[in-house]
Amino acid sequence: MRKFEISLLLGLSSYSDLEEQPGFRVDVRLDEDLKRSAIIVAPYNIGPDLIPCGLTCHRGHNRGYLLRLADGTHTNVGRICGSNHFGASNFSEQEKLAKATERAEKHKQSINELLEKIPDYRKRANTLKN
Ligand SMILES: [Zn+2]
Repeated sequence: MRKFEISLLLGLSSYSDLEEQPGFRVDVRLDEDLKRSAIIVAPYNIGPDLIPCGLTCHRGHNRGYLLRLADGTHTNVGRICGSNHFGASNFSEQEKLAKATERAEKHKQSINELLEKIPDYRKRANTLKN
């Protein structure tokens, strides 16, 4: 049976998961172009230790966002920095979208896990028939 394609990066659970993203940058100086072009790839909640913001402030945080920049590189931004730098309304729109997408993708992942179990369930059902 065909499975759902998961389009959002799920399960960012450590700082090294962020560091593994293509061209991950740790000291991004934002300019207007970057502010306009950055998009949220995925929300994260990483703890218990604080992780540094990828912008020049390096402020420690637990909840934030993986961002993709116009040149295809990535960085991360804490929740508060994100809304300070990208404008609260713009950022909260993207935040809502990212969270809704994350929920939908998690549902798809659960369905995929169930689909994987179908052959085993069929086998068990057949043994019960006999
Ligand atoms: Zn910051």
